[in-house]
Amino acid sequence: MPTRDLILPPRLPRIDLSVVIPVFNEEALLHELHRRLKGALEPLDLRYEVILVNDGSHDGTPALLNALTAAEPAFRAIHFSRNFGHQAAVTAGLDHASGQAVLVMDADLQDPPELVAEMLALWREGWQVVYGVRRKRKESLLKRLAYWGFYRLLRTVTNVEIPLDAGDFALLDQRVVAALRALPERNRFVRGIRSWVGFRQTGLEYERDARYAGDVKYTLAKLVRLALDGLISFSYAPLRVAVYLGLIISVASFLIAVFFLFYKLVVGIDVAGWTSLLITVLFMGGIQLLTLGVIGEYISRIYDEVKQRPVYVVAELANFPSPAALAAHEVVT
Ligand code: UDP
Ligand code: MG
Repeated sequence: MPTRDLILPPRLPRIDLSVVIPVFNEEALLHELHRRLKGALEPLDLRYEVILVNDGSHDGTPALLNALTAAEPAFRAIHFSRNFGHQAAVTAGLDHASGQAVLVMDADLQDPPELVAEMLALWREGWQVVYGVRRKRKESLLKRLAYWGFYRLLRTVTNVEIPLDAGDFALLDQRVVAALRALPERNRFVRGIRSWVGFRQTGLEYERDARYAGDVKYTLAKLVRLALDGLISFSYAPLRVAVYLGLIISVASFLIAVFFLFYKLVVGIDVAGWTSLLITVLFMGGIQLLTLGVIGEYISRIYDEVKQRPVYVVAELANFPSPAALAAHEVVT
């Protein structure tokens, strides 16, 4: 009769820290990312995993990731079936992370991995979300201005306390990760839902470096989409603008009507009306299309939620313990 220990498969060690990194066409910097990560994580003396989410890259990234995961058992990869976007990639990483704490960072080394030691110290003090606050951005003036304006606008129109100048770079406690996973919404504005779930949160200021190599992967269209997602999923203000506009225009048109009626009855001259008529019609048409567009933005997002399509589709996993292995193994906690 074999002993129980002989029948049981070996135990899977508990993971202390998971690092989640979305990667899209980043062949130029994967080597440096690997080097910086090893340099930051090895001295910490904890069991870590690095989850690189390949968001449908079509350059040398998949091949480089295959080589990396073959050489490093602690580096895992999730390959998407196509490009689903940065927020979907972060979501996938969080869904697959098994660490007690999870660090989310960008691949381009704008978020310094060396900060993790300080973040972990805060986490050990009891902070369940430690998010990075960008002290200085090394980006173009226009982009800095747009970000500055957007975060302040978001803050004024939402009822959730979304911290200023904080992106997705953050260390999350596993309880926060579980809460994020449980949220069913498909429109995932991660920095928003991260604030929404609550828990003890604190910011850590850091200097945001310039991108290490390659071009930015967030196109203007993707950035605008992200900004709209943030505004629309966390605020009803755009809808209310229609109400206020309607009110203002109704009152104004009433006053104008009274004025012209008075003018016609007392002074008795007809006002030549072609230009004012045209301007009014065009103005009203513009406002109506605009408010319809705003309603459309909300409806398209409702439609996305109703369809219940998954946020991402995984083509392949590398270095993850298979579900069968996970079920058979006893995870040591
Ligand atoms: N990224 C992604 N999918 C995309 C676009 C970007 O996974 O469709 C990743 C990219 O590889 C990087 C991170 O998201 O790790 C941030 O992108 P980027 O640095 O281009 O944008 P930034 O936020 O610096 O403007
Ligand atoms: Mg970047």
